[in-house]
Amino acid sequence: SFSPIPSDFYGFENLLSEREKSVLTELRAYLEAEVRPIVNEHWLNAEFPRQIIQPLADLKLFGMPWEETRPFENSAVFRGWVALELARIDASVATFVGVQNGLAMGAIGVGGDAAQRAEWLPRMASGEVIGAFGLTEPLSGSDSAQGLRTVATRDGDGWVLNGEKRWIGNATFSDITVIWAKSAEDGQVKGFLVPTDTPGYRAAKIENKQSLRIVQNADITLDNVVVPESLRLQNVNSFRETAAVLRLTRAEVAWASVGNSIGAYEAALKYAGDRIQFGKPIASHQLVQDLLVKCIGNITASIGMVVRVSQMLDEGIQRDEHASLAKAFTTSRMRETVAWAREVFGGNGIVLDHDVARFFADAEAMYSYEGTREMNTLIVGRAITGKAAFV
Ligand code: FAD
Repeated sequence: SFSPIPSDFYGFENLLSEREKSVLTELRAYLEAEVRPIVNEHWLNAEFPRQIIQPLADLKLFGMPWEETRPFENSAVFRGWVALELARIDASVATFVGVQNGLAMGAIGVGGDAAQRAEWLPRMASGEVIGAFGLTEPLSGSDSAQGLRTVATRDGDGWVLNGEKRWIGNATFSDITVIWAKSAEDGQVKGFLVPTDTPGYRAAKIENKQSLRIVQNADITLDNVVVPESLRLQNVNSFRETAAVLRLTRAEVAWASVGNSIGAYEAALKYAGDRIQFGKPIASHQLVQDLLVKCIGNITASIGMVVRVSQMLDEGIQRDEHASLAKAFTTSRMRETVAWAREVFGGNGIVLDHDVARFFADAEAMYSYEGTREMNTLIVGRAITGKAAFV
């Protein structure tokens, strides 16, 4: 039976349907039993646990929003809550799902025509095909709306892709990677589904990350990669469609950042109950309570924000700036929250064994990916002033 998490202090979970709650109950049980026990070791070794892919697919976590693959009518609040639950156990696992379900399937859901959606979405929902999303480049991060160097040149019935990508999540083992490239003809951004066994496509793992170590990020080289027209996303005409995908995924990253905060806070709350100093649990010291209350305050305010942003999606009124404000605000609150949670542990907060060090380190990548705080701030700034500060 469903029992809400105590960290949901205002009971936002009551907004979910019975069916949605039952999927969350199943998901929580799976994560507690199979994922929580293995994440620290995988984090340390910078390895992705491939054995979790099929169970996550069987829980129907891939393809929730799309007509072709959704297991039942579900709300954006529910989909956000899935991201929260994943990140509450491990932010890298949430990021893996965010790439497969949000970025890669999202690119096809938003930019594919009916035939492309019918061909790819079900195979990705089942876990048979793993996707990646290649937008960022070595020389173009925040400015990728204007600055992409990867070029697509029309050649007979197909296209030839040349360029480099950086930071691409899941790309060390993806079956297809969505490559965003500028057309040599009209200078507009187009999207291509590139099978990773295509000659000229190479992906090399980025080593030595100190945040989200479980996520496998890759540098990609595209050297005269030939792609047929049937693998060009037919409804992508410019960066506008890329931005439409990012609006959806940024809101989900905001949800995941709340989950990462909750993971750190719950670890701190437990530790504060167990650790004795001055003859009593540190939880009974006023200043430790202050740290914990500041955490739950940030978490509760952030849940309120992401719930409303998701409701706006279902109401058809969510705009880019709404998702950007949520992403910038909640990831900033997350950074404060994980630091306070870590403080509760004293010295033990910096060793991996107590989990909080992982939540603390993982917050950094979430703060910067899917648009840095600055870029999301500038998107909101443009909306409220009518003046773009970054073109
Ligand atoms: P830069 O753009 O070089 O920015 C550096 C700093 O300058 C930032 O603080 C930025 O905010 C600031 N800055 C830049 N321009 C301005 C401006 N006009 N005004 C004010 N400040 C500015 N990308 C993908 O395509 N696919 C993925 O799957 C993916 N996964 C990722 C996973 C991880 C773990 C990480 C770390 C990154 C991932 N990324 C991915 C890339 C990510 O989206 C970029 O790192 C991000 O967009 C920032 O780009 P950058 O790192 O090149 O930083």
